[in-house]
Amino acid sequence: ESGSENLSPTKQRYIEETLADFREAGADLPSEQKKRASEIQSLLAELTQKYSENCLDGTNAWEKIVTDEKQLTGLPKSALDAARQSAEEKGTEGWRFTLQAPSYIPVMTYADSDVLRKEVWSAYAAIGRSGEHDNRQLVRQILDLRHEFAQLVGQKNFANHATERRMAASGQAALDFGEEIFQKVRSQFEKEAEQLRRYKAAEEDLPADHPSLLEPWEVGYWAERQRKANYAFDEEALRPYFPIDHVISGMFEIAQQIFGLRIKERHTSKIWHEEVQFYDLFDSEANEHLGSFYADWHPRESKRGGAWMNYFITGNRDPSVGERSPHLGLICGNLTPAVGDQPALLTHREVETIFHEFGHLLHHLCGDVEVKSLNGVNVPWDFVELPSQIMENWCWERESLDRIARHHETGDTIPQELFDKLLAARNYMKASANVRQLAFGKMDLELHMHWADSPLEDIDAFVENVLQDYSATYKTQPKSNVFNFSHLFSSPTGYAAGYYSYKWAEVLDADAFTRFQKEGILNAETGRDFRVKILAKGNSEDPAKLYKDFMHRAPDPDALLRRDGLIA
Ligand code: ZN
Repeated sequence: ESGSENLSPTKQRYIEETLADFREAGADLPSEQKKRASEIQSLLAELTQKYSENCLDGTNAWEKIVTDEKQLTGLPKSALDAARQSAEEKGTEGWRFTLQAPSYIPVMTYADSDVLRKEVWSAYAAIGRSGEHDNRQLVRQILDLRHEFAQLVGQKNFANHATERRMAASGQAALDFGEEIFQKVRSQFEKEAEQLRRYKAAEEDLPADHPSLLEPWEVGYWAERQRKANYAFDEEALRPYFPIDHVISGMFEIAQQIFGLRIKERHTSKIWHEEVQFYDLFDSEANEHLGSFYADWHPRESKRGGAWMNYFITGNRDPSVGERSPHLGLICGNLTPAVGDQPALLTHREVETIFHEFGHLLHHLCGDVEVKSLNGVNVPWDFVELPSQIMENWCWERESLDRIARHHETGDTIPQELFDKLLAARNYMKASANVRQLAFGKMDLELHMHWADSPLEDIDAFVENVLQDYSATYKTQPKSNVFNFSHLFSSPTGYAAGYYSYKWAEVLDADAFTRFQKEGILNAETGRDFRVKILAKGNSEDPAKLYKDFMHRAPDPDALLRRDGLIA
């Protein structure tokens, strides 16, 4: 009917995806509706921009100057120094605290003073809820407009509109996914909360059965104290085992072995800084040049923070001539630099970050799809983190860790005792961490599926109702962060009805990695299979099908819970 029957399956998919893009934007609607659709989009752009400004201005509108150092016990030196510097910059004495994460988080985690934590917490919880930077009305308007738009383009609600072409495929499927995990971690979640309450009671010399609940501003602080007491583990002790050159060459070695690749440095003057390295990547069997990449590992003043992968050129293979145009990419980090004549020594977290970004890079460089826009990392959101997150697993297995971790002076591998501590600390309060993510995901989906038809008049009441089981009980019950949640409301779509994808991707990576655990984590056949069925495929087929091709079944959430130590 469309005249595309003679095209290759990939080209057919390309046409289908392109048509769906138009349809989702309302391009095939009758003119009146089309006009309304574009009106909604510009309104959403305006309102979400305002929401975002309110979050920012609301955050910046508050500060707290402390002049008595006795009120600041417990805070690490780095936080004190930063607060001192912030005060100096404002021309005041003492220590200045704000609601920005680098200032707020250390206070909530380490400050011994309940009074200080309560004050800071209360200010944070009020962002977006009153005065000049009030987001309450905006959220209602945004949700209404999104719902109207979804119905215009023929969807029942906005969550279905956002997920239709993702792996989840519907809002209900994403909701069910979260609920299934929640039911499995629920009792452990309640146990962790009870344990923390008892820990505090014991530390404060209250009787163990003392019923007093925690306040929300106590949770982070007592969780950190309990962690320190039971899982005391100095992350710095691992650093000497992670000299950067050994980590990188070990990571390359692992990727070469399991994915059938060869990585070779090429010296070139076409770089933007002398620290930048350049590599070519080949298929090790066919000796075919798949692509090249820059690696830029350390911070410099002009460089933005964090770690990331960029794709500069997406190549492809022209099936009619069989010739390949290679990909070009960049992996960037802000890793601990070398000091004096010591090599750069990394934290385990930094090592994990490199593996993560290298996974994105391999997804890009191994892409083997004839249509460029369907190649590499151009895949649905709830699938794009599979190749990156699965790589992190190799940082937690003895066998692979021994390839990347060698003491920079002695050449020793990580002592077993230190390795055991690393593993134990990994799963501390994991049920609570899971429930927190699941609660955000559920709130997001419920707002974009059921708010429009809810008999409740008030968003706080609606959210409280849907999250009842997902909240621990505190003395003061906190309100939700819905009015200060940029992920969901800072752009017309953004992460709206997409927050679930964090957990979704975690399930995919934990589950897919079980095949490596079964068949050998350095097994070249398994790795080759992952490369051919996932990395090479881009968005040339439905991601649910790609996953099934590799695992021969649908994803199993239990794999994640097992990795998190929540089920046996
Ligand atoms: Zn990522």
